[in-house]
Amino acid sequence: MEKYESQVYQHGTLGMLVPGLFEGTLTVAELLEHGELGIGTASGLDGEMVLLDHTPYLVQSTGEVRILKPEEKVPFATVHFEQAKDTFTASALTQKQLGEQILANYPYKNLFFAVKITGRFSKVKTRAVEKQTRPYKTLTQVADEQALFDAEAITGTVIGYFAPEMFQGMAAAGYHLHFLADDKSMGGHLLDFELDQATVQLQPFATIEQHFPMADQEFLEKDLAIADLHAQIKQAEGQN
Ligand SMILES: [Zn+2]
Repeated sequence: MEKYESQVYQHGTLGMLVPGLFEGTLTVAELLEHGELGIGTASGLDGEMVLLDHTPYLVQSTGEVRILKPEEKVPFATVHFEQAKDTFTASALTQKQLGEQILANYPYKNLFFAVKITGRFSKVKTRAVEKQTRPYKTLTQVADEQALFDAEAITGTVIGYFAPEMFQGMAAAGYHLHFLADDKSMGGHLLDFELDQATVQLQPFATIEQHFPMADQEFLEKDLAIADLHAQIKQAEGQN
């Protein structure tokens, strides 16, 4: 049997956003060379990016969904090429229940893995952060001002990642998932869902490629104090 291995690519780290490094440092065109599926945010923390079928949708705090242009830049994004290892169907589960079921049924708790869920959801609750201008606030201050969206009986796709606890800071430990409705009427950073009937695909990664904005003077000079980094990420990402 051929060895199964795939990899994930990340530009920037979630921890860099915490003290307010929101300026885009990689073009969307460059990002898309590394994946066709993924999540991220746009320059100035302008909403929640959902990369599906090689198309970078951006869910803005106004609720509008637009497609990012190739020359636009992102401060933070995680992407991969689709090569699912596991596929199963799920029905009548909350986000928390599904997350626990995955970790109970698959030996992935110490790996990064992608989660893709397509189907019908009875409830979806998302948020989108608002575009910031300089001087930038901190991530937790911005998260306090996020726009919230609710939908019921909606079809769409969830895409995102699980990161082991020890990588909190590089990514968001645990699940970090975004959603986009099939009709593009609603999406964003997932806070909660109840799936009705859906197909779940998992893709564990043998390799993570972590790319840094090494031409960005602001990043190079920033003091990334990590004393309360974990608490701030948990607060900003809606983890509990
Ligand atoms: Zn997010």
